[in-house]
Amino acid sequence: MTEAPLNRHDHFVKLFPKEPAFRLKQIEKAYFTESMKGWEDVTTLGKEMREVLIKEIPWMSCTPVTTLSSKAGDTHKVVLSGNDEQYFESVLMRNNRDQWTICVSSQIGCAMGCTFCATGTMGLKRSLSSDEIADQYRFWKQFLSQRPELPQRISNVVFMGMGEPLVNVDNVKKAIHTWLDYTDLGPTKVTVSTVGVLPVLEGILTDPDWPPVRIAISLHSPEEESRRKIVPTTAPNFHTRLAQWTKDYELEHGNRNHHITFEYTLISGVNDNEEEAKRLVKFVKTTSAVKVNVIPLNLVAGKEFVASPREGIEKFKKVLLDSGVDVTERKTMGSDIAAACGQLALTIKSDGKVVG
Ligand code: SAH
Ligand code: SF4
Repeated sequence: MTEAPLNRHDHFVKLFPKEPAFRLKQIEKAYFTESMKGWEDVTTLGKEMREVLIKEIPWMSCTPVTTLSSKAGDTHKVVLSGNDEQYFESVLMRNNRDQWTICVSSQIGCAMGCTFCATGTMGLKRSLSSDEIADQYRFWKQFLSQRPELPQRISNVVFMGMGEPLVNVDNVKKAIHTWLDYTDLGPTKVTVSTVGVLPVLEGILTDPDWPPVRIAISLHSPEEESRRKIVPTTAPNFHTRLAQWTKDYELEHGNRNHHITFEYTLISGVNDNEEEAKRLVKFVKTTSAVKVNVIPLNLVAGKEFVASPREGIEKFKKVLLDSGVDVTERKTMGSDIAAACGQLALTIKSDGKVVG
């Protein structure tokens, strides 16, 4: 069973089928009101209803099992347990505006099997419900409120934790709408990172309910065959269809705040030579003005891949820059607590304890 558990919205409708829609809004608002710590505080609801809710619907869809903080104090990782005791991870990172970016998971494990990614080696356990996704924000808000010496604002959310968001797109969409409705996050502060599930990306173009968030496509190679070696789910004609999609997306949502980024993890001897960089330039020129974000590979236990040397990364970037491609490099954070991109995979010890 890889499906997500029932979300509390649907659970509530099952329990109280005759309640008007505004009731659900009141409830959703309450979850995101920091002074409210449980159903008993939601006094806009009748006492009887509250009593049923206390018994039937947990106030939080997930609870912390362990938290770890990096030495630098700028990255924190939590292992969360769903109410079915399945575990997943979420990361809080200090950003350059001195606020926080949270890196959320959309699934437990991932079925896509990218060869350099720790989550990929777990396989897919199940998808997260929209609540389990949305509550990662609530968890980190609580975490920060218990540490008043730290900045309190979560300014950005990135779907770069465990899982492939577009395989769980309905729950991802619901969670994003919840944040947009009940927190101060705007759509351009949310980035959905995807391995590039083309039918879903294409569906987004005509989906009136798709929120205008930023999209990052994990490209990793300018050509189909070499990409398939590290991203085995690469579809036929991937690059041609993707290039067309970027243009269609720009037509649909086009404004410079809704840009698309290509993520490119640099792996030594695999996709990082200068010829590859030139081919990447060629490909990027066939898309709408897409930016490239290079990611130095983070080490994953048991994998033979290594990061490109600094010199190689600089050379690669220079080829792109010299050809007029907008390129940035992702700063690695939290690698000492295995919280960096691609390092999220749970280790369960023989005594049943979870090591993040
Ligand atoms: N499934 C989505 C989002 C989660 S992965 C996706 O693939 O985009 C988030 C990002 O981390 C992706 O760009 C992914 O390619 C990258 N990543 C995975 N393993 C990595 C590793 N070992 N080092 C650096 N980045 C990695
Ligand atoms: Fe899944 Fe993304 Fe990891 Fe690939 S990189 S296995 S899509 S989480």
